[in-house]
Amino acid sequence: MYNGSRPEPMKHVVVVGGGIAGLATAYALRGKARVTIVEPDVPGGTIRTIREDGFLVEGGPDSFITAKPEGTALCRELGLGDQLIPPSVRKVYVLSRGKLHPLPEGMFLTVPTKIWPMLTSGLISWTGKMRMGMEFFLPRGGGGDESIGAFVRRRFGDEAVAKIAEPLMGGIFVAEADRLSLRATFPRFAEMEEKHRSLIRAMRKIPVTGQSPLLSLRGGMGALVEALLARIDAAIVRAEAKKIEPGYRVVLSDGAVEADAVVVATPPPVTVDLVRAWPELAAAIARVPCETTATVSLGYRAADMPRPLDASGFVIPKAEKRRILACTWCSSKFEGRAPDGSALLRCFFVGSPPDPAGVAREELREILGIVAEPVLTKTYLWPGANPIYEVGHQDRVAEIEARTPVGMVLTGSGYRGIGIPGCIADAKRTADRIVGNG
Ligand SMILES: Cc1cc2nc3c(=O)[nH]c(=O)nc-3n(C[C@H](O)[C@H](O)[C@H](O)COP(=O)(O)OP(=O)(O)OC[C@H]3O[C@@H](n4cnc5c(N)ncnc54)[C@H](O)[C@@H]3O)c2cc1C
Repeated sequence: MYNGSRPEPMKHVVVVGGGIAGLATAYALRGKARVTIVEPDVPGGTIRTIREDGFLVEGGPDSFITAKPEGTALCRELGLGDQLIPPSVRKVYVLSRGKLHPLPEGMFLTVPTKIWPMLTSGLISWTGKMRMGMEFFLPRGGGGDESIGAFVRRRFGDEAVAKIAEPLMGGIFVAEADRLSLRATFPRFAEMEEKHRSLIRAMRKIPVTGQSPLLSLRGGMGALVEALLARIDAAIVRAEAKKIEPGYRVVLSDGAVEADAVVVATPPPVTVDLVRAWPELAAAIARVPCETTATVSLGYRAADMPRPLDASGFVIPKAEKRRILACTWCSSKFEGRAPDGSALLRCFFVGSPPDPAGVAREELREILGIVAEPVLTKTYLWPGANPIYEVGHQDRVAEIEARTPVGMVLTGSGYRGIGIPGCIADAKRTADRIVGNG
């Protein structure tokens, strides 16, 4: 009923950073606030899909996990439901003593859920297998924020850390398992131990849904960015934010924008500099370490591949002392990534060697025996774009939140959710907080 008073004007919210975190926040603010996004580059941040000569290359993320439902839910909401595709293959190899061994089927991260593939696997020694099996009988332990390495070692033994946890986690969280916080990365594992004592036991109680653990989009992850851009109701200012002043005023490379509230969705190393007007906040954000990563995508003629690319790729334990961390066989992992008669592989680096493409080719020659010239080479460098959730991460985030002024919210992969679904989930919470519902 009309009560004679005028509707309150909508808040003007400036979102600094147009990666998935900033775009998903702007999307969640539709109809609730007037939004301006400040982004100097192409929107999408590390989500970067290009098409060239029939290849579909992902410079950053190539998929997202379904265990956190927000990625799938947003794609469906944006009308991309029929574009969602599961990996075409489930097999993953682990490089061990220079040879590729399949990760035993039914392995959920480090937890074996099927006995036979585990017993017949050439990846783990018999002593290692017996030690892993003992997990079923072990009492609860740990407590507090443990590292993933300490947790897996305590439950499954050293070999499970070295050959499974370390290379798998390294590929996802770009840091050694002994640095990573279990509670910030896999809180479910800690909960399983608390509730069921044994993780093997807990996993056997989870109903098999047939849902793929990973999904991508037929047109690549860039399709999500395009769909968001088509649906958000925001002005996009193509400029670099230089600093944020109390009140709020976002100073740009060219001019400034006034805001009632500000969402800072830039990577932590950039945010530290933007919020220097609040030195304690800047110091707290600086305590979240961030790694630089790089990807090199190489397209080949399929006939030049010395072996069948019959898996989604391989991961590499530290003990192998290789210069790449993992290699995705993109054209086997998802449909439509390479033209007929071609193959697409992508090497993943932590840090950035002087000649990433040259190093990637040398590594593929030594590991897979690929000597042919690639028909396509694409290199992407992501400086400081990968936050590391070290042990104690949640305390660091609590401190950041305590020092963030009213009317400002920090979001993105640096704080409460690594990866695309984590960023999307946090964007929703961020929008609620900004308009005062959360
Ligand atoms: C190589 C690689 C592979 C990955 N693979 C996966 C995967 O398979 N699945 C998955 O879920 N996740 C993956 N991730 C992680 C995922 O990409 C990130 O968690 C997520 O995209 C982070 O989004 P974001 O918006 O927080 O940050 P970003 O994507 O980094 O976006 C930040 C934005 O801020 C902008 N910006 C920077 N400085 C300024 C400034 N001064 N003013 C204004 N704007 C600024 C940038 O241009 C950028 O657009 C991967 C990451 C990398 C680097």
